[in-house]
Amino acid sequence: MDARDHRFDAVVVGGGQAGLAAGYYLRRAGADFVVLDAGRRPGGSWNEYWGSLRLFSPAEHSMLPGWWMPREEGREYPSAGHVARYLSAYERRYGLPVRRPVTVTGVEREPGGLAVRAGTRTWHARHVVSATGTWRAPYIPSVPGREDFGGVQAHTADYRGPGAFAGRRVVVVGGGNSAAQILAELSEVATTTWTTSRPPRFLPDDVDGRALFAIATRRQRAVRDGSGAGAPGPGDLGDIVAVPGVREARARGALEAEPMFDRVTATGVAWADGTVLDCDAILWCTGFRPVLDHLAPLVPSAGEGRIALDGTRSADEPRLTLLGYGDWTGAASATLIGAGRTAKEAVAGIVADLEAGER
Ligand code: FAD
Repeated sequence: MDARDHRFDAVVVGGGQAGLAAGYYLRRAGADFVVLDAGRRPGGSWNEYWGSLRLFSPAEHSMLPGWWMPREEGREYPSAGHVARYLSAYERRYGLPVRRPVTVTGVEREPGGLAVRAGTRTWHARHVVSATGTWRAPYIPSVPGREDFGGVQAHTADYRGPGAFAGRRVVVVGGGNSAAQILAELSEVATTTWTTSRPPRFLPDDVDGRALFAIATRRQRAVRDGSGAGAPGPGDLGDIVAVPGVREARARGALEAEPMFDRVTATGVAWADGTVLDCDAILWCTGFRPVLDHLAPLVPSAGEGRIALDGTRSADEPRLTLLGYGDWTGAASATLIGAGRTAKEAVAGIVADLEAGER
């Protein structure tokens, strides 16, 4: 399809939770838009997570605009599959025009607006909202000797469950929620060592994603008001939430962390003080980077994974809005409950521009 003759008010790239939240507000404003999603099915990256992953907030505190997530039968903290089903139902409920699978390969300027390209196909837009998440860009830090290791190296993005590591000696790297949740189950079937670059920070057991969201909101306001209370500290979105599996693993001593090693050897990992540890596998739970390659024709720095923003818009191209990637595109905007708030403000700005004469 090459919609040569038609120019959409907005083309949303990415149909995960952030793209759907944008779609909800675009629809409510009566905008003419389409969502292009590379996934084969609805649900964004929630389809890719391992089976035992649990949300760090109860269902009744995880919602996209307009519709609370229903509770998952028998679970306080919903599974990833439950969230994917919720997002799928959300699309249908609001009749969001999502086209998939469509992988956007480039966004460029053209007379009258922006051209969104997916291979040989082109969509024409007045505004583009990019909401492609981070899942497709796993990050592994460069540690000396990594290429010499003779065992298995995997990233969170490759992890499907503990079975593949049963009976092995595994070093898990990273101090966030993914590492803690994976260790909780891996330590039951494998010999695990946890290494983190700073001591892991556990939230108190009675604090979960709800409180983190409130903290992120307060911090954003403080930064905006210039009161200086915006620096990171306990209660960051990266702090470890004591979901039931994590609590249980911590109680049996499986979540004691060692400092980060200094190099990888052919058979394991080594610290500068001469300590060595042999292992069969290294699992890098070291995070993700924003997926921005498709924006490089429009904003060259996107090719290196960064775009300067003014609010949620590109500082270089005001017709480009970014949603969902992390706190840099709005406080807690990479969470289910935070995505809607950022999308609401961003879409209001787009609609104001359209009404001011672009339409
Ligand atoms: P995604 O869900 O990644 O969606 C992006 C979509 O864009 C995908 O469908 C992808 O196929 C598509 N796409 C990518 N590139 C292109 C392209 N070039 N063209 C077209 N489409 C493209 N969040 C919470 O709110 N609560 C939690 O409890 C929680 N727990 C988590 C636990 C773990 C271990 C992890 C890893 C994450 C957790 N998150 C949680 C975060 C949350 O899962 C993600 O932040 C969220 O899925 C991001 O949504 P998104 O829409 O921005 O991106």
